[in-house]
Amino acid sequence: MPNKEMLLIPGPTPVVDEIYDALTHETYAHTDPRFVKIFKNSLEMTKKLFNTDGEVFVIAGSGTLAMEIAIINTIAPGEKLLVISHGYFGDRFVPLAKSFGIQVETIQAEWGQHVRKELVEEKLAEGGFKAVTVTHVDTSTGVMANLDQLVPVVKKSGALFILDGVCAAAAVEEDMQKAYGDPAYTMDVVLTGSQKAIGVPPGLAIVAFGPRALAAREAMPAVTGYYSDIKNWLPIMNDPGKYYATPPVNMIYAFNKGMEIVMSEGLGKRYQRHAALGRAVRAGLSVYGMKPLAPEETAAPTLSCILYPEGVIDAEFRARLAQKGMVIAGALASLSGKAFRIGHMGNATEKMFVKALELVGETLKEMGHEADIEKAVAEFTKIYHSV
Ligand SMILES: *Cc1c(COP(=O)(O)O)cnc(C)c1O
Repeated sequence: MPNKEMLLIPGPTPVVDEIYDALTHETYAHTDPRFVKIFKNSLEMTKKLFNTDGEVFVIAGSGTLAMEIAIINTIAPGEKLLVISHGYFGDRFVPLAKSFGIQVETIQAEWGQHVRKELVEEKLAEGGFKAVTVTHVDTSTGVMANLDQLVPVVKKSGALFILDGVCAAAAVEEDMQKAYGDPAYTMDVVLTGSQKAIGVPPGLAIVAFGPRALAAREAMPAVTGYYSDIKNWLPIMNDPGKYYATPPVNMIYAFNKGMEIVMSEGLGKRYQRHAALGRAVRAGLSVYGMKPLAPEETAAPTLSCILYPEGVIDAEFRARLAQKGMVIAGALASLSGKAFRIGHMGNATEKMFVKALELVGETLKEMGHEADIEKAVAEFTKIYHSV
């Protein structure tokens, strides 16, 4: 089932044939040893992806469920959470945590900018924060958080470090045993969904808990959830032949294949490829006078938020591209109409972006703007192969 369209939004991302094939595997019983073996295998690969010495949970749901699981299993109602937000998805932790009676404080960056670590340090000095959330790549702005700066500041304060990796996992390093300057400065929870850089259709919430995060759950007598309580899932994740709630059998087949593709490419190579792709796509689009919102130092390898040149009408531009079979996303909130978002992650290929740059150039011309397509493609190709 080859794709008819190029889905270049910030997720879901293009799904390759092997994954579609896996998805249509005959639906076995969730306790069938042939399925259990596949489930186990996918969990082992997930552990490797995050290099965790803790536990991983792969559960039917979307990335937002993964966020909820991370929050309610580490922070009790009445305790304090600090949200570091670089945009729309960072902000999502605020109502989420508040709905469970957690006290939330927020540090928000201006869209496209970074939260400075000094601000975080100052806030944490007030004391009493149980955890801090950081969005690795905020999908609204294309800004990537600087883990080298933030992990030490948060961990020094004694708070748990929770990383929303939904738009980064499997494209940017998220190593839970990596020590950021001190052996104790490691990330405690990393979460993602199946449909972004892993390249599998939407449907799975994926969360890794390190030892300190597991201990935080252990220290709480109960949590405000049943389906989201990791204690209910632990026996299943350790032995997927056991039953708690029926796993999405076909999605697990697809996920297993998606993770096999990730692992066979190799994590290092995959991270390098995404870094190159991000820079190359932005450089190609710049030839058309399209400016990335985030400065290159903080721009994400996985998606870009791109400001339109004067006079390009967002709705018309995206509708014309869609007619040509290329789907991109509009920008959110105050950037709506002024920018678009293009995903460049997962199993999207170099060939797709050459095509994408051609289609963008043609569309600009149709709309009465100038576009040097050859130069844009040449710039993309040069940078993609030199990074
Ligand atoms: C997409 C996304 C989410 C939400 O995931 P859903 O699968 O839509 O629930 C959360 N955080 C980030 C950073 C995202 O990119």
